[in-house]
Amino acid sequence: MSRLALWLALSAVGAGVLLWASGDGFTWLNPALWAGLWLGSGAAWLLDAHHWRRLREWLGQNTRTELPASLENGPAAAASNRIRRLLQRRDRDVEAAKAQLAEFLAAIQVSPNGVVLLSADARIEWCNTTAAHHFGLQLERDVAQLVGNLIRNPDFQEYLLHGDYAREAIIEPRSATRLAVQLHRYAHGRMLMLSRDVTAIEQAAQMRRDFVANVSHEIRTPLTVLHGFIETLQNLTLSAQEQQRYLALMAQQSQRMQDLVTDLLALSKLESLPNAPFDPAFSLRESLLKIEQQIQQIRRPDAILTINSAPNTQNAMLLGVESEIVSALTNLLTNAVRYSPPDAPIELRIETQAHGGLSLSVIDQGPGIEAHHLPRLTERFYRVDAGRSREAGGTGLGLAIVKTVMLRHGGQLQIDSAVGQGSCFTLVLPANRVVVPQ
Ligand code: ADP
Repeated sequence: MSRLALWLALSAVGAGVLLWASGDGFTWLNPALWAGLWLGSGAAWLLDAHHWRRLREWLGQNTRTELPASLENGPAAAASNRIRRLLQRRDRDVEAAKAQLAEFLAAIQVSPNGVVLLSADARIEWCNTTAAHHFGLQLERDVAQLVGNLIRNPDFQEYLLHGDYAREAIIEPRSATRLAVQLHRYAHGRMLMLSRDVTAIEQAAQMRRDFVANVSHEIRTPLTVLHGFIETLQNLTLSAQEQQRYLALMAQQSQRMQDLVTDLLALSKLESLPNAPFDPAFSLRESLLKIEQQIQQIRRPDAILTINSAPNTQNAMLLGVESEIVSALTNLLTNAVRYSPPDAPIELRIETQAHGGLSLSVIDQGPGIEAHHLPRLTERFYRVDAGRSREAGGTGLGLAIVKTVMLRHGGQLQIDSAVGQGSCFTLVLPANRVVVPQ
């Protein structure tokens, strides 16, 4: 019912009741008529005010309930229904916006990069799980905290306070982790902080620098020696015997460079080849014959090499690249000869593994290696005793080649060694690379 209809109805009822009670009949001068009209208007006004108060109360509720039935039909009905429709539309819009925001945040959550939203005064408003992991943040605990109080790294503090945000900063929030961090300003001074884990990239760059420095060093040393001999030969009048001695030393140095280049090429070829899913089979026995021939060339005549192969391994076939496995085994045998005393025996032991694989162990009774060197032996150019290795014709790349060959074949290189007790280097080939007759 509209407000006007209510007012008219109640006024008419009031006037009618008082006119009837007075018994004087209708005249415009009858005070009962006016008192009735006045009472009716007052009642209409009270009812109206009551409805509006109820509407205000309903609007003030924290949790929205259905519009009460009395408001749907009362004097404030039109306004109430209009307000209800507006609120319903707004609720729908809010829900849609929330869903959109949730989707947007879910997309940022899966980003491999860290994302932190900061207020204009650098307080944390939101961060994704990658950023939480990068900086050790917990969103529930750290929200509204100053980011500078939580990330205490000095490089980050410097960047936050005085940095050039057009560039990223490299920080080390904890040891062995390097992050590239960049701040971007947006709407009203707020900031978006992005972080990227660059540990692997930085390590690769460092390895590349070290590798170039190592190769240059390895090549420069024999080159310097060669240069010195050439100058000596040019400037001095030497006897034929002396000349021969110098030429022999020069040949030794150029051989060293050649070995180095050969090993470098072998390594780069191995590293650039993708893992073959299936390789042709080759006979282990025939490969061992080739290895023996190669070892003959480098071993001292007095080095004692025995091959002990488990009976069923005699006719084993390997699935892989024969030249690579032969080269890995030759490198191990060459090292055993190089680093053991002349009369110390060397054994090549071939055994099957419980899981069907095959192990090829080179066991020597040389000086052994201190435990702290073992994890680094397969690094390129890592040597326990650089002088001894060079003197013995080593390039520092042998075990790096062995490890790469094993990785390419899904196998591994195991090293056991103890000072004074010799060393055992084992190539372990997985079952899917071995066919052993039963
Ligand atoms: P290198 O060409 O110098 O022998 P490797 O990569 O083959 O390079 O070996 C790395 C280092 O490991 C060697 O310099 C040597 O110090 C140590 N090493 C390798 N094999 C043996 C071994 N059988 N006995 C003792 N030390 C060894």
